[in-house]
Amino acid sequence: MSETKIVAGNWKMNKNKAEVVSFFEEAKSYSFPSQHRYIICPSPTLMDCALETVQKLGLPFEIYSQNCAWEDSGAYTGEMSPLQLKELGLQGTLVGHSERRQYFGESIETTLKRSEAALKAGLEVMFCIGEELSVREAGKTEELLKEQLQGLFADFFRQNREKITVAYEPVWAIGTGVTATDEQVAETHGYLVDLMQKNDCPYPLLYGGSVKPNNFKSLASIPTVDGGLVGGASLKWESFQALVDCLTA
Ligand code: PEP
Repeated sequence: MSETKIVAGNWKMNKNKAEVVSFFEEAKSYSFPSQHRYIICPSPTLMDCALETVQKLGLPFEIYSQNCAWEDSGAYTGEMSPLQLKELGLQGTLVGHSERRQYFGESIETTLKRSEAALKAGLEVMFCIGEELSVREAGKTEELLKEQLQGLFADFFRQNREKITVAYEPVWAIGTGVTATDEQVAETHGYLVDLMQKNDCPYPLLYGGSVKPNNFKSLASIPTVDGGLVGGASLKWESFQALVDCLTA
């Protein structure tokens, strides 16, 4: 566990430019605790606007992409090159979000290829893993998480470990309003932290899945939880602020 917690907002395919600007305008008067990190992952068409606004207002947000191609350039219609993302000024990228795995054919192999390309371009990687309900019910959660994560124990990733964060997001808790209980999070995070330590890759570990201001305080106080990756509750400034307040209040 680290003293630095991360609050990362995944805005998915939401907002327009005016809404992006007004989120950050509202955040302007807030005193952000300086020991923590704040990340926003906007849609591709809003990344430029988010970067510009954050810079103009002097806010401590890092802007991440929601995805990143595994090649630097070429015939990959609809993809975003890691070099393009870096040139734009992004700090990092999500990789392997469950919605990518579920709807867009993301596989264990492609998550590793994307992560490698992003790191080589100088981007940070927030690597998402998580099990479906059927996997949990079959008692195979740890087996699947190990399968999803173990590629990140290769030397290349270990050498870049300062730039990698892992987000554990049980698929059954994403966007459903059903949060994993503190006990489930503690148990699964305990397993993952142990696995990462055994492989000499102690990546920071976030929890994600229906994180809200009313459950984040207790989730974030679990010693193996280094913060949250948050969808719905990150969209409004008021709610994002309430999440950050959970870290101090
Ligand atoms: C997510 O998008 O990663 C997520 C966890 O969404 P939500 O907080 O809405 O469940």
